[in-house]
Amino acid sequence: MTGLYLHIPFCARKCPYCAFFSVPYRKGTVAAYTEAVKRNIAACGLTDRVDTVYFGGGTPSLLTAAQVSDILNTCAKYLHLAPEPEITLEYDPTGSRETYLRDLYAAGVDRLSIGTQSFSDRQLKLLGRTHTAQQGKKAVLTAYAAGFRNISCDLMLAVPEQTAELLAETLQTLTELPVVHVSAYLLQVEEGTPLAGDAALLARCPDEDAAADLYLQAVHTLENAGLHQYEVSSFAREGFESRHNLKYWCCEPYFGIGAGAHACCFGKRSCVPEDIAAFLEAERQPEQLLSASPCDPEERLMLGLRLTEGVPSERLPGKQKIPALQKAGYLRERNGKTVLTPEGFAVSNAVITELLT
Ligand code: SF4
Repeated sequence: MTGLYLHIPFCARKCPYCAFFSVPYRKGTVAAYTEAVKRNIAACGLTDRVDTVYFGGGTPSLLTAAQVSDILNTCAKYLHLAPEPEITLEYDPTGSRETYLRDLYAAGVDRLSIGTQSFSDRQLKLLGRTHTAQQGKKAVLTAYAAGFRNISCDLMLAVPEQTAELLAETLQTLTELPVVHVSAYLLQVEEGTPLAGDAALLARCPDEDAAADLYLQAVHTLENAGLHQYEVSSFAREGFESRHNLKYWCCEPYFGIGAGAHACCFGKRSCVPEDIAAFLEAERQPEQLLSASPCDPEERLMLGLRLTEGVPSERLPGKQKIPALQKAGYLRERNGKTVLTPEGFAVSNAVITELLT
């Protein structure tokens, strides 16, 4: 089984913390881009069954429902879609319309990943988001009314001025909504972004210890609400784990289409240059080889340690450090596997580095 990732690199406005590849929305460019995506689906040569399709961005919900439908019809025509594929679209909560959401659902999208980030207007403003807390709530409820039962929300942690009380309010709102999956990320300060150059705002971000506490607060609240942690940043009700994202962490094949998309497929890893004009002009998308083979054993271990399923302890190069890390509360061993605890996930980069060296 293979996953298909479609990169839709258009945004209404650039968020100050974002380092993803995206360009301003232009109606004509998006129309031409949709045609290029369809052309590349038809020519990609995937013969494996495709069981997940993921519209990521950027802001894929800037596509019209007709464009999404067109792309999915092209998938159905040229690819071997598995029965009941998981089809996800990342959705911007600004100005939700039930007709649009109904049309997306009718087109075959069955999973929405909504960029709520927070349910505090103050936090959303500090993050430079264009939506309000009310619009975030409305997006979830409107999606539910339109038929979606597989709804994920993004939650951002350790944002400027975030306190345990403010996070508790956001988590309470989130867990009262019909949401079956949460992606909770610590705010990363990426080089070259406006946030990285805003010293005053950075000074208002929680420090490392406070960020770890906020992360643990989120883990415990979500677990208590029935959303179990299955990956360092991912929480789901039983059976609603993201099938597409699991492919990345389990080193299963996925193909990528669109400017800036990555692929790990056909026994190699590749990416499409972040160049919209080149993508639009080429008959077939320009690709760059990243490695002539899929992940090496060390990368597999690194990805596996992100999952609460863990990895076989005997395969870890730093296995002699397990007892000390276990004593410190950062990991546990279960059926011969090493699994990070929530405390370990809070400082996962350091723990994983210890285990791999
Ligand atoms: S909407 Fe998403 S992809 Fe676009 S700028 Fe904001 S964070 Fe980045």
